[in-house]
Amino acid sequence: MKLILLGPPGAGKGTQAQRLRDRYGIAQISTGDMLRAEVAAGSPIGKEAKAVMESGQLVSDDIIIRMLGSRIEQPDCAKGFVLDGFPRTVPQAAALDKLLAGKDMRLDAVIELRVDDAALVDRIAGRFTCANCGTGYHDMFKPPKRPGICDVCGRNEFTRRADDNRETVTARLAAYHSQTEPILPHYAALGNLRQVDGMADIDEVTRQIFAVLDKLA
Ligand code: ADP
Ligand code: ADP
Ligand code: ZN
Repeated sequence: MKLILLGPPGAGKGTQAQRLRDRYGIAQISTGDMLRAEVAAGSPIGKEAKAVMESGQLVSDDIIIRMLGSRIEQPDCAKGFVLDGFPRTVPQAAALDKLLAGKDMRLDAVIELRVDDAALVDRIAGRFTCANCGTGYHDMFKPPKRPGICDVCGRNEFTRRADDNRETVTARLAAYHSQTEPILPHYAALGNLRQVDGMADIDEVTRQIFAVLDKLA
């Protein structure tokens, strides 16, 4: 199964990608997570990306395309992958087409999570993540079952992203509308774009995505 999850920042891509990973045994590939790992490691890519990410702009296509190209060569991608946060620009979508064609691979579906801008600010402001296993949470919409304890791994350390603040969100939304939305017609023309109502609650969004994918089989 080879999927793309598209949608604005805070739409629920990471949340749903974790569930798709578990359902299909595929790799979840988040270019945002990969970049945050580079920043944490202080690598040359991380040094270049840090300020750009904190300002809410997009990191250069060059860096992203190279990173993604080597990522999908990894053995955990053998059964497929769900791309979460990539492609985000027209050149990235074109590079992905070439990369897949070169491997004789095709996408099964491109799922667009549709969420109103107004809802995204609250989603992003309340987002936090288990520092150990990466499971995503929300202060109001998805708190851990026992306060302060990760549902999945039982640990008690969580992180919040430096760019998850109300000021940066505006820039990130603007980047989505101007640079990412223009790739939607490309996938619509290929016939594999599917739209899902991302305003519903988390489990309902999952049900809708699974229903879309079950119909493909
Ligand atoms: P993205 O990867 O698209 O930026 P996330 O999956 O990290 O988005 O979700 C953003 C925040 O909103 C997280 O805190 C998550 O728990 C929460 N969230 C995700 N989907 C929903 C939903 N359908 N309804 C309410 N909150 C959601
Ligand atoms: P979100 O889904 O909440 O916007 P991500 O974790 O996907 O967050 O991305 C965080 C930041 O990392 C983006 O604002 C951008 O600076 C950078 N980034 C992630 N993926 C890409 C990409 N494919 N192209 C360019 N920049 C990216
Ligand atoms: Zn955990």
